[in-house]
Amino acid sequence: MMNQTNSKPRILTGDTPTGGLHIGHYAGSLEMRVAMQDEYDCFFLIANHHALSTRAQETKDVAADCVNIVKDWVSVGMDPNRSTFVLQSEVPAIAELTWYFAMLLGYGRLMKNPTIKDEIRVKGLGDTYSFGFLMYAVGQIADILCFKAHAVPVGEDQIPHIEMTREVARRFNQLYCGVDPQTEDADYVQAGGLFPIPEAKVGRVARLAGIDGKQKMSKSLGNAILLSDMPKEVKKKCNRIFTGRGTMDDPPVMENNTVIEYLRAFHPDQSRVDELVEQYAKSELGDGHLKKEASETINALLEPMRERRAKLTDDDARDIIKSGSAKANAFAEQTLWEAKQAMGFDFHPRKLVIE
Ligand code: ATP
Ligand code: MG
Repeated sequence: MMNQTNSKPRILTGDTPTGGLHIGHYAGSLEMRVAMQDEYDCFFLIANHHALSTRAQETKDVAADCVNIVKDWVSVGMDPNRSTFVLQSEVPAIAELTWYFAMLLGYGRLMKNPTIKDEIRVKGLGDTYSFGFLMYAVGQIADILCFKAHAVPVGEDQIPHIEMTREVARRFNQLYCGVDPQTEDADYVQAGGLFPIPEAKVGRVARLAGIDGKQKMSKSLGNAILLSDMPKEVKKKCNRIFTGRGTMDDPPVMENNTVIEYLRAFHPDQSRVDELVEQYAKSELGDGHLKKEASETINALLEPMRERRAKLTDDDARDIIKSGSAKANAFAEQTLWEAKQAMGFDFHPRKLVIE
């Protein structure tokens, strides 16, 4: 069995293969992941089971997006030699732990999760969503706890999910490891618990708006500037940014203006942005000018990513997933075994082989 001890604290985070990653992911999470790679033992997960919650009819596209996500990750500087890239469907311990954790989470509690409610509304799922759609939130608890993560870098929308993860981790530790419910979160492992109580770490930009200027930028909503977009595409999308103005004769909208938000998030020279915003407020500059600045800024950000992406083939990406998943399995199988021991379900040990 694997020795899980590593002097560095661990993080687990990831993305769903529901399309290419976008600049909202970058500012909200990816940028922080790159910076955390030295200080933390990093597990980055491609949540292909979760993608089925909205794409069960498109499994081949989900598979293609798994490869694309690896390319997105490498393009921003996430490094498979320092971090572990994990494909969810290749780590069976996650699915098994999902069963156990599902029993520790109330149905009513899950349905009160504001992110679930929001996703049902925004993605137009009505009451037609599958049972599996709700399961994804439990599955995410297993993703995190399987790697005994101490921290989870995420965007703002994920905080309710991390809160549920914390509740389940406490419950498991109390119920099966005999930890006193009065224990401080930071002391659970020391008190004999199996799972650390993980903390959410929100990135520099908690919620980047989409080019529609309304919803959060999201790969499923068609309002995203993708990390893989070519310069022309970025320009076209920036021209479409909704700035809040009804007609060009209306005064500029200064609150929640998405083009300003992008300049604030990505322009390397914020004093220049101050100047632009001041002139814009006085109508000395129009929407078109700001959109052009935004498109140049975003293209400058994406250029080195395009170069790194071009060096990686699909086969390279598949190899990265394979070796990462092998490492992840060694860790996850050990966690599952310990969880089963704590529960008295340790009937016999097993060895997992990846061909
Ligand atoms: P989907 O539309 O399929 O839900 P998504 O664009 O919301 O996709 P996820 O895979 O759900 O992306 O999220 C991956 C990570 O990126 C999460 O930590 C999430 O909080 C973060 N994230 C997603 N969109 C944004 C955004 N617009 N701003 C900041 N962070 C974001
Ligand atoms: Mg999402």
